[in-house]
Amino acid sequence: MELWQKMIRNSIHTVDQLVEKFHINKDVAEQLDEFFQARINPYYLSLIRYKGDPIWQQCVPHEEELNDMDGFEDPLNEDAMSPVPNITHRYPDRCLFLVTSQCGMYCRFCTRKRKVGDNGKISMKQLESAFKYIEEHTEIRDVILSGGDPLMLTDVMLEKILKRLRQIPHVEIIRLGTKMPCVLPQRITPQLCDMIKKYHPIYVNTHFNHPWEITEESTKACGMLIDAGCPVNNQAVLMRGINDNAEVMKELLLKLLKIRVRPYYLFMADETRGASHFRTSVNEGLEIIDKLRGHVSGLAIPHFVIDAPGGGGKIPMLPKYVIHHDDDKIILRNYKHENYIYKEYKPLKEENEDSKIEIEISNKRNGKATQPKKIKERKIKTNELIESNG
Ligand SMILES: *Cc1c(COP(=O)(O)O)cnc(C)c1O
Ligand code: SF4
Repeated sequence: MELWQKMIRNSIHTVDQLVEKFHINKDVAEQLDEFFQARINPYYLSLIRYKGDPIWQQCVPHEEELNDMDGFEDPLNEDAMSPVPNITHRYPDRCLFLVTSQCGMYCRFCTRKRKVGDNGKISMKQLESAFKYIEEHTEIRDVILSGGDPLMLTDVMLEKILKRLRQIPHVEIIRLGTKMPCVLPQRITPQLCDMIKKYHPIYVNTHFNHPWEITEESTKACGMLIDAGCPVNNQAVLMRGINDNAEVMKELLLKLLKIRVRPYYLFMADETRGASHFRTSVNEGLEIIDKLRGHVSGLAIPHFVIDAPGGGGKIPMLPKYVIHHDDDKIILRNYKHENYIYKEYKPLKEENEDSKIEIEISNKRNGKATQPKKIKERKIKTNELIESNG
């Protein structure tokens, strides 16, 4: 057994462990376990600094999960957009392919907790129909392996899937949606990287939410994937008490750049049942983005999006930078709240007085009367340039 597999085995998982370790009332712990099981591996546990801190909140079950009946089981309507088991096909040219129900840590805010952790709901026995679907749909050029976490599979199993996908000519890129670099970086081994290398282009989308998750171990894991040729991008979720603050967010994003991970998305928290206590207002998110743009490198700034309820897909949101826009100009404000005018491009027309004069001059010089106007206009400009230079 590999080290990471042993660490999974040594996770905090049972009701008794929750009671003992986190002093959760036994009744409550049982209900929480039934709602969404816990899995806190020894590495992620070691990141907790104090009770209720941002790491704790992401992994330790909380009574509030049980009081929240507002959210939805499947807020993104993934199951309805599933043509065959394990596939969600929402966008024209790419699809999600769920390959396991297991994760290295179970996040309390997970959007897919209706399935995650339950082998019966994301079955590996049904992969054949998923492969067939991808083969038949030649418009799919990008397959995103998710779950669960595809890196919970053994190298052998993952390689079978990659090999099979690589036999499909229209699949151009494969993405691994994995939280392992963050929650169990020991999973990223030299053997795994050597295997992945054979199936490029492979992109890795990972998921860091807080600067404390960027450690020596996670830095190394991301570095290994990047050195193996995988671009690594981060998808974070904006969450109350975890990263809903411009300073914390800035620290996270800049630290990601330092470990060569590019911030890709920042999501508003989904309306998932049992996760409402993590939600913030949209304005809080917009204010954070506003405090970043211009102040730090554009490389650090993710697309801030809402994954639209009901399956509308990811929709970007921006602070209000456009003050006014008409046919002639756009008035914009910059990060210092100063306004700037950008004039719209206007093709030259005959009605335009200046260009009429130019055309006359051009005709005199050339001694010709008619030429297509566009050419004439260009000519006069070139002539002027030569004259003024010479
Ligand atoms: C997020 C998502 C994708 C990928 O979207 P990108 O914007 O290309 O990263 C694809 N399919 C589904 C169902 C998704 O939720
Ligand atoms: S790693 Fe992803 S799928 Fe797994 S519990 Fe966390 S958010 Fe859910």
